[in-house]
Amino acid sequence: MNAQEFRQRAHQLVEWMADYLENVEQYPVKSPVKPRQILASLPAKPPHDPEHFDLIFSDFQEKIMPGITHWQHPAFFAYFPANSSFPSILAEMLTATLASQCMIWETSPAAAELEEQMMEWLRQMMNIPDDWVGVIQDTASTATLCAILTAREKLSNYQINEQGFANQAFTVYCSTQTHSSIDKAVKIAGLGKQNLRKIAVDERFAMLPEALETTIQTDIAEGKRPLCVVAAIGTTSSTAIDPLRQIGEICQKYGVFLHVDGAYAGTAAILPEKRWILDGLELADSYVFNPHKWMLTNFDCTAYYVKDKEALIRTFEILPEYLKTKNDNQVNNYRDWGVQLGRRFRALKLWFVIRTYGVAGIQAKIRLHLDLAQLFKQKLEAHPDFEILAPVDFNLICFRYKPLIINDLEQINQLNTQLLDKINQSGKAYLTHTKLNDVYTLRLVIGQTQVESRHVEAVWDLILEKVEELN
Ligand SMILES: *Cc1c(COP(=O)(O)O)cnc(C)c1O
Repeated sequence: MNAQEFRQRAHQLVEWMADYLENVEQYPVKSPVKPRQILASLPAKPPHDPEHFDLIFSDFQEKIMPGITHWQHPAFFAYFPANSSFPSILAEMLTATLASQCMIWETSPAAAELEEQMMEWLRQMMNIPDDWVGVIQDTASTATLCAILTAREKLSNYQINEQGFANQAFTVYCSTQTHSSIDKAVKIAGLGKQNLRKIAVDERFAMLPEALETTIQTDIAEGKRPLCVVAAIGTTSSTAIDPLRQIGEICQKYGVFLHVDGAYAGTAAILPEKRWILDGLELADSYVFNPHKWMLTNFDCTAYYVKDKEALIRTFEILPEYLKTKNDNQVNNYRDWGVQLGRRFRALKLWFVIRTYGVAGIQAKIRLHLDLAQLFKQKLEAHPDFEILAPVDFNLICFRYKPLIINDLEQINQLNTQLLDKINQSGKAYLTHTKLNDVYTLRLVIGQTQVESRHVEAVWDLILEKVEELN
């Protein structure tokens, strides 16, 4: 392909992209394909001879699109969103075109300095403490791994990096509701899953600080070294909020590293009326939230903030001869701020998004989502056969269908499993589930870029229609 053909194809694809996003509601939200159906449609061998772009693009439309779940569909209410926006997509086009490898400052000074400034803008927007600094990571899972590794190094005086483990018995703490990325990070960091303590939660699914403290004391008494607590601001199951200030005070008392996981709900801190969710953050050591979930920015873009930049860098620093430059003291070389060496230019899409919407525009979106969640909640409250199963502090509603006449837990769980299948098979909306105290729970998250009240009305009608069919 030469530049002239590229130009022509690029225009063609942009037309397709705009059509797709304008008409995304025509697609079934959740892909209906069967396992390995797409694979069966793909040639077993790579092409020996060049193929024509028309053929490649028509195969994309015919073979690939049916196997796509439409995350940008306004009726995508599943998991947490990975929403995007027009300015973000445009920036991704430029990033792909530049295709710069932004591992150190010299390999693209603008990428490093724009990243530094975007992390500073976001810090101000979210009211993160003044003296913290941020770095973009690929995912929250990676950021949490960085936090646990930093805790390991800082509390071992950087000895594990040097000598490996001797007889240290470190322990890590999170609530029973915390995301699986903590289990994964504990495994990767070599700490051992049996040293991860899952602390009990209250009726709002928030960590019980008293239980945390007792567990830490027991571990100390048994000769363990409490290393790190991971507190969640918005758990994945139900967006529960752990009591940050109380947990922070406990961590300070016992010299434990505190990492705060606000991967999804952290974006809400852009609203003055939601700032309280980060109350006590100054007592923590690091914080993560994902602009790639709820802040209109294409995956991947995770904002990771630390109080002690030196500790982070000391944990990850490498300095082989071929990476040394004369500017190392004046600039940020982000290869030393995390796991990967090579890095995409991810700050550009944040710059485009924040400037296009303005802080006020992003706030308006987030506020709309929170209001729509209240609208849906009111519908549930007004109906005798539905039950809300967790506080609605953000835009996730945890609920179930529970007809008054049925009381058997298994039977109700079964009904809700069937209800979810029926909703998702309709192609008109996509919801997922979780379990809260053994109760099969439907999760509905209202965080799409283009979601409006009519979509919330429609999903409610759909749920009622499917309930009718069940009976
Ligand atoms: C989504 C989520 C994660 C993981 O995010 P990735 O960026 O996909 O790694 C971690 N913690 C919480 C609370 C989440 O909701």
